[in-house]
Amino acid sequence: MEKITEIFGTCVFDDRQMKARLSEKVYKSLKRTIDRGTKLDSSVADAVASAMKDWALEMGATHYTHWFQPETGLTAEKHDSFISPAPDGRVIMEFSGKELVKGEPDASSFPSGGLRATFEARGYTAWDPTSYAFIKDGTLYIPTAFCSYTGEALDKKVPLLRSMEALNRQAMRILKLFGNEKVRSVKTSVGPEQEYFLIDRELWKQRKDLIMTGRTLFGAKPPKGQEMDDHYFGSIKPRVAEYMSDLDRELWKLGIYAKTKHNEVAPAQHELAPIYDTTNIAADHNQLTMEVMQKVALKHGLVCLLHEKPFAGVNGSGKHNNWSISTDQGENLLSPGDTPQENAQFLLFLVAVIKAVDDYQDLLRLSVATAGNDHRLGANEAPPAVISIFLGDELTAILESIEQDIPYGGTKKEKMQLGVDVLPKFSKDTTDRNRTSPFAFTGNKFEFRMLGSSNSISCANIHLNAAVAEVLRQFADQLEGAEDFHAALHDLIRTTIHDHKRIIFNGNGYDDAWIVEAEKRGLFNLKTTADAMPHLCDAKNVKMLTEHGIFTEPELYSRRDIMLENYIKSVTIEANTMIDMASKEIIPAVIRFTADTAAAASAKKALVNTACARETRIVSELSALTDEMDSALTVLSENVTALQEMSDILEASAFVRDELLPSMERLRTAADKSEQLTDEDYWAFPTYDKLLFGV
Ligand code: ADP
Ligand code: MG
Repeated sequence: MEKITEIFGTCVFDDRQMKARLSEKVYKSLKRTIDRGTKLDSSVADAVASAMKDWALEMGATHYTHWFQPETGLTAEKHDSFISPAPDGRVIMEFSGKELVKGEPDASSFPSGGLRATFEARGYTAWDPTSYAFIKDGTLYIPTAFCSYTGEALDKKVPLLRSMEALNRQAMRILKLFGNEKVRSVKTSVGPEQEYFLIDRELWKQRKDLIMTGRTLFGAKPPKGQEMDDHYFGSIKPRVAEYMSDLDRELWKLGIYAKTKHNEVAPAQHELAPIYDTTNIAADHNQLTMEVMQKVALKHGLVCLLHEKPFAGVNGSGKHNNWSISTDQGENLLSPGDTPQENAQFLLFLVAVIKAVDDYQDLLRLSVATAGNDHRLGANEAPPAVISIFLGDELTAILESIEQDIPYGGTKKEKMQLGVDVLPKFSKDTTDRNRTSPFAFTGNKFEFRMLGSSNSISCANIHLNAAVAEVLRQFADQLEGAEDFHAALHDLIRTTIHDHKRIIFNGNGYDDAWIVEAEKRGLFNLKTTADAMPHLCDAKNVKMLTEHGIFTEPELYSRRDIMLENYIKSVTIEANTMIDMASKEIIPAVIRFTADTAAAASAKKALVNTACARETRIVSELSALTDEMDSALTVLSENVTALQEMSDILEASAFVRDELLPSMERLRTAADKSEQLTDEDYWAFPTYDKLLFGV
């Protein structure tokens, strides 16, 4: 086997390749663009394109594609070959700067929520030079942003880059106030921990629900689930280990820092975590990781499920978004420093995040809202739908002492003076133990734990960056005019803690009592996508997001509609799949088994004098359940029809929440009970025990 250091990044046009293949002048100019966002002139673009093409051809590539992230949350690509006709009938391989920088996919079929009338259907893609191009399956992939000709963002990358820029602008103002003159830029970094399930492909093929919707819509609880806690961090089965090692290699070749792998809580559930990277690169890499995970699984006769809730009754899958802010000088602004000055700066950024999360709870909640993720949040396996922040007892006590102007517990007699005193050291360990909090401070970063496993991390980070940028703007406005900076700073931190401490909660987030308490504190509890998503267009959110140039107002309305449409469509496909499986597979199996059992009982009774108690019970219970399934199926079908007739998207999404989903649940309950009474040989598809323990 080759060494990791030798295969790492071999499929990436990274800094090594750039340095080796570009003239010094071109390289420097490109670096300036990457580091500082300066405009790339066309001669430089031509030189970069040509070097990229030569490298790609040497690597055996024949095509290139502008790779982008439409609002579906997936990725999109259209491949063009490098060939260009030569006058003598041959072809030459060409790739110009213009083709590198800008592409024009015919994008009329991507959701745009009414932003782009079909007569101007063409959008264009623009190269994101900060995310390296790479080769996959014989094609050169160029990470790009996707816009309409009138400049509206049609993807997830454009607003993500805008949100990073907004945060950079405001954080720079704050750093200036602290006399930080060397810093050129501030960036956010993310390390997303990715959970997934692996199941056997042959079993997967036999389940329409998994094929159509990515999750099981039926299935009784198996005799064993996750109650023994024997899977978490357990030893990895050989077939899974082979998969993981193959996956690591593929990711490393693509320059992705795959670092940690282990078994998760549920049977057949696993996790992969990379080393953190700049947010837009982390977003690209996470999309790529999810794709490679699924592809590598097929090679091993497996299917990788990224759905948030593939199985009822065992934990679903999420994604933890570990997030921090740092300067180009390598300083992590969420890390408490060693000097009074660093401490004061840390506390200001800390309370900025606290206020941002409190002021924009609704945005953070809706940034992770999908039909799939609704099944996890609040189900005692993932954080509740209520947003709160975990700080740990020590840091909370420090903030309390600042707020109330009292000495901090024991370590010091006098009150803390910001800018003069050093923060008492708190151990990183105590900040790291609460696993039930949606938003936890873990020593030098925040871990946003509400993301669903299949979510693009872009949405969460757009809103997180935007909210923090807005609070930093307010802080900078206030502090820039202050006569006594340290007094004003102290005051600002105190009032911010006082006004926003309701969002801090260090207890058990899974506890019902917390939900009651949260309501008393006036925190949002937006349980479903239908509840959360409309808040995207609340006046305060529109104002903030447009003022920072992250979205235009039409973009916001279009995004809200696209996300709600997505919710409605996903659940409708699930409902239709249930109708299909119940009508063609489940009810016929139950009818056959009931009839065979009844016939067997009659035959038995004709021979011997017996009550046939078991047979009678089976026949009678299954007959009742068949009637119940029939009636539930009728209601479900009526609901699907009623939904199709609704034109108002808000009304339709509320109907999905209030009528369609409960009617699906009713059908499932009857079907799952039937499964437990029916001979396995009659059941049309593999049951939970086989799926969960089949690898
Ligand atoms: P766990 O949450 O499982 O205890 P860690 O906290 O060690 O694991 O790391 C989880 C993820 O957080 C990893 O992807 C890691 O790279 C990332 N991470 C670590 N430090 C930072 C940071 N300063 N900013 C962003 N992500 C970070
Ligand atoms: Mg974690």
